[in-house]
Amino acid sequence: MHIAFANSYATLPDRFFARVRPAEASAPRLIKVNRALAEELGLDPDWLASPEGVEMLAGRRVPEGAASIATAYAGHQFGNFVPQLGDGRAILLGEVVDRHGRRRDIQLKGSGRTPFSRGGDGKAALGPVMREYLVSEAMAALGIPTTRALAAVLTGDPVAREEILPGAVLTRVASSHIRVGTFQFFAARGDTEGVRLLADHVIARHYPEAGEAERPYRALLDAVIARQAALIPRWLLVGFIHGVMNTDNMSVAGETIDYGPCAFLDEYDPAKVFSSIDVQGRYAYGNQPRIALWNLTRLAETLLPLLDDDPERAVADAEDALKAFAPTFERHYHAGLRRKIGLLDGREGDLELAGDLLKRMFENGADFTLTFRHLAEAAGPDGDAEPVRSRFIDPTSFDAWAETWRARLALEPAEAGTRRAAMLAANPAFIPRNHRVEAAIQAGLKDDFGPFEELLTVLSRPYEDQPEHAAYMDPPEAHQRVTRTFCGT
Ligand code: AMP
Ligand code: MG
Repeated sequence: MHIAFANSYATLPDRFFARVRPAEASAPRLIKVNRALAEELGLDPDWLASPEGVEMLAGRRVPEGAASIATAYAGHQFGNFVPQLGDGRAILLGEVVDRHGRRRDIQLKGSGRTPFSRGGDGKAALGPVMREYLVSEAMAALGIPTTRALAAVLTGDPVAREEILPGAVLTRVASSHIRVGTFQFFAARGDTEGVRLLADHVIARHYPEAGEAERPYRALLDAVIARQAALIPRWLLVGFIHGVMNTDNMSVAGETIDYGPCAFLDEYDPAKVFSSIDVQGRYAYGNQPRIALWNLTRLAETLLPLLDDDPERAVADAEDALKAFAPTFERHYHAGLRRKIGLLDGREGDLELAGDLLKRMFENGADFTLTFRHLAEAAGPDGDAEPVRSRFIDPTSFDAWAETWRARLALEPAEAGTRRAAMLAANPAFIPRNHRVEAAIQAGLKDDFGPFEELLTVLSRPYEDQPEHAAYMDPPEAHQRVTRTFCGT
């Protein structure tokens, strides 16, 4: 099998990356190949699943034409700047142009030490690899921009964490792995030329229209801000908590990246935090828009020398660009909320109505996903409100809201069938419930990948009812509840 690599990042100057080879896995074994994604990339899924393919996926065999580099980046971790992070446990094999003409990175995550590993072993344990595979593929099926999982393999080597765990490698596909922290790496060194080269690369690769603009770097900043302001609402609207939105974990291409201690809401709570290391709640569910803007402000700072020769004018320009975040975010978020409650035609008072529902959900410990999913059934005057109202500790709290809601629905021009379809398309039945992900991982650790496979199948059609898999809709029982998630590093 010949992979038609078309590497562009590796043509940047040497200080952008280190050339490295993955570590030798002692006994590679396939867990999963994402066949559909392989086809999309123009790769033969049967070859990927063959012994030779698995050797590549485990890092034992570097294919011809691969770049095999670890990229340099910096980043603010929980608000503290670290001037050098970089791919400490990942190797970019290279880029391919997919069937749709889109350039995609193929990266091995967990394939051993690199010059950026600092104290780490460069490895990944099976659990985090399965988690990233499941959650990133679920996000893709939900229609949310994200990196993808092409494959997962066991390396045959143990990884020492709090306990000894099986080592694994995830093959990650991204439109690129360039982060806000990549810009910070050069800016922190006063390497304006590096920032410029990176900006030019990002424009050519992700924002060609910015290259045509009168002021390309300002247009780049505007475009990155716009994509994040569209992405974060998508997270909120499905109850996703990234968990570690450090600037090195924010893609400038606007994809969700770096699934660590991520989780999904069960009951709605804007202050919800799962990550064991997020003691201050910096990355709490409802704080994500604010943090995105904070990160984008760090990006804007790196671009100041490109925005204007006059530092004061550059700052004013950056501030002007950042001002667009809040209204763009709100536009997307509000439109999404309206769709979730079946209002296809925006009117004054709609947001208050949606906000009132969220408030009642919070007060009543209502499950985020199921409340919205079952709302469609409760819409009509003779609809069945029981599935949704029973999510509330005090179901009459829902009833009171539903009265106003139905009165508002009566003003909608859309007919009931259209509305119902639109609501079902806006409100998934299936999300990667934390307890289901955990159960799949626990089975995987016992070498049973059946639950992982089944969960993946269910999550691939999140908006369909799938009566045969109805149990996957259920929130956790008290004993199944996941209260803490971990980074997995
Ligand atoms: P993350 O938590 O994935 O955002 O990683 C933060 C930084 O730590 C990045 O520079 C990673 O490459 C590095 N890192 C995480 N885990 C490891 C590991 N096991 N070995 C080496 N570096 C790591
Ligand atoms: Mg990271």
